[in-house]
Amino acid sequence: MRFPVRTSFAHRMTILALLASSVSSATLMGAFLEFDSVTTHRQLENRLSTLANIVGQNSAAALLFDDRAAAMEVLGALEAERSVVSACLYGSSGRLFAGYQRGAATENCPTQFARGATATRGFVTMSRQVERGGDAAGTLVLNADLHEIAERWRQMLEITGLLLLGALAVGGIAGSLLQRKISQPVQALAAAMHEVTERHNFGARVAAEGNDEIARLGGGFNTMLAELEKRAAEKTAFEAQLKHQALNDDLTGLPNRRLLADRLTHALDVARRRGHEVALLYIDLDGFKLVNDSLGHAIGDQLLRQVAERLRARVRSSDTLARLGGDEFAVVVSGENAREQGSVAALALLTMLAPAFRVEEHEITIGASIGMSVFPENGTTPMELLQQADGAMYAAKRMGKNRLMAFSEELGASIRERLNLETELRHAIARGEIRAYYQPEFDVATGRLVRFEALARWIHPTLGFVSPGKFIPIAEETGLISALGHQMMEMACREAVEWQAIAGRAVQVAVNVSSLQLMRESFVAEVAETLRKTGLDPHLLRIELTESVTVNGAARVGTAMSELAELGVSLAIDDFGTGYSCLSYLPRLPFDALKIDRSFVSEMGVRPEVDAMVHSLVSLAHNLRMKVIAEGVETEEQMALITEIGCNEVQGYLLGKPTSDPRVCVAAAVGSDRCSSGELRRR
Ligand code: C2E
Ligand code: MG
Ligand code: MG
Repeated sequence: MRFPVRTSFAHRMTILALLASSVSSATLMGAFLEFDSVTTHRQLENRLSTLANIVGQNSAAALLFDDRAAAMEVLGALEAERSVVSACLYGSSGRLFAGYQRGAATENCPTQFARGATATRGFVTMSRQVERGGDAAGTLVLNADLHEIAERWRQMLEITGLLLLGALAVGGIAGSLLQRKISQPVQALAAAMHEVTERHNFGARVAAEGNDEIARLGGGFNTMLAELEKRAAEKTAFEAQLKHQALNDDLTGLPNRRLLADRLTHALDVARRRGHEVALLYIDLDGFKLVNDSLGHAIGDQLLRQVAERLRARVRSSDTLARLGGDEFAVVVSGENAREQGSVAALALLTMLAPAFRVEEHEITIGASIGMSVFPENGTTPMELLQQADGAMYAAKRMGKNRLMAFSEELGASIRERLNLETELRHAIARGEIRAYYQPEFDVATGRLVRFEALARWIHPTLGFVSPGKFIPIAEETGLISALGHQMMEMACREAVEWQAIAGRAVQVAVNVSSLQLMRESFVAEVAETLRKTGLDPHLLRIELTESVTVNGAARVGTAMSELAELGVSLAIDDFGTGYSCLSYLPRLPFDALKIDRSFVSEMGVRPEVDAMVHSLVSLAHNLRMKVIAEGVETEEQMALITEIGCNEVQGYLLGKPTSDPRVCVAAAVGSDRCSSGELRRR
């Protein structure tokens, strides 16, 4: 890069060098000329003085003898001296005796000698008294011009001019040499600086040879640039890492939600232009939370990495597999027939996940629920497609998990309804509108009322009766179950305190507790606090846990159950037989009772194999010192069958439906020892 000549350092240096050399030479020359001029002037005066002496002596005789011719001859000898322009010889009376003049241009001698007359400008005048034998014979006046001096001046000036030119040339050369020595490295520095500031090229370097100040400056500059280059490289690497982190998931290295949104937007743009489809798969692992809770986050993380690997192996490189967070993944499938390709891919992914995963010493089987939404049929924006696929995934979970569910208009309507229900439920819980109903349970042998099971009831002002089968799963999915469960526990305990006085003997209350509630660190403390607040004897409280909680038994569950048992609270396993039964946990957990699910009771007497199974279950429970409760007994036949196989307790519409006013039943039971009045049956 070149700087404009006028402002350049080199230009200024050259001018400076030239100026310095010319001023110094001119000063020197001026001084020399002045000195020379003074010297020459003095020499001329000396010569004139000598000549005046000689001519004065030689012309003394001529004056004495009044020999004008001899005087003229003596004066004529002055012709040899080029600077003398006139010589005037005056007699003792002061009258002009003889005169000499070199050229016509020279002024004539004045006829009368004037003492004290000054020389005209440009001339030197010398007068001498002519003596003979000690007497004044006359006066000689010599006039010399300065022609010789002027001539010498001219020559000197020419020489000075030449010398000045020489000095300028030397100055110019010296300047350019200096420029090469100093300004070139400075220019190189400036050029490198420009590279850095304008083009951010930290790889620029300057030649730094030698050990002078500029070389050291260049060396320092190079070191600084090397440092800057290193830092720029580190910054670039750091930025790249940040960008990767911003767009990729740390755990699996897969694109994250943000990058997925970008890719999806791009895929939709391309599909719009080509008239193609885009299918979005929303994948959520089934039961991952339980793995995390029971085996710990480190195992959960390893499992997620393995799941990501399996999914990656099945997804085409042209499609995008992303992790949305937690146990949620998504796949974008583009193409002419993306709906079909998406379905095929989803089913293939489910197959890929089917074999058990090995994480450290654990063998884990995990499925996935997949929701699919397709552009342009279902939605046209990434946000819309994501919401629809998410909704479809939840529907797949509700349909029994480990399956693919494609979004449709009807599904959209049910999702909206569900969302609406969720909002309503939130309000209902906040306003305490969910009530507790109580269903009695009896001892089979004695027919005595032993407890009531508290069941949540929601009667919505416009929707009417909403079944717990509908709102309990929503409460569980949304986390509202904790608040709801707490309200139910408090209502049940408060209510149960009342029964004791009416019955005059112990009547328990059973409360259903969701796995999510039990997992909470504070659950046992909350139960203890409720018992304290309501004044209910802990032995009068039973907690019912569904099988899934215990099968996936996290360490937390075991601890919480032991702590509850220590409090004196009894525990029952609810809906036994509906989950993936794994009997090995039964002896390890402090259960007091086992409730056989209504689905078995309803098939008893119809399918002999069910009778046999229930029979075995009862023996098993008894061997483990657990009581058996038969749920959902609706007929006398069922009652006879469960009595025959040895069930200890019974619950069902035959003996009593859930009621909002259990005290009537308690009062009735005091007299008859059996709470099966006609009034209760009708409820
Ligand atoms: P569950 O704990 O197994 O409760 C028994 C269910 O069977 C109740 O249904 C009850 O009304 C019904 N039932 C009892 N006897 C008969 C019968 O003879 N015939 C028929 N058809 N049904 C009978 P409900 O009240 O609809 O509750 C359903 C489930 O919702 C409960 O099953 C329980 O798992 C859950 N649930 C209800 N309230 C709560 C609650 O407060 N907290 C929690 N976590 N879950 C609750
Ligand atoms: Mg129950
Ligand atoms: Mg049950």
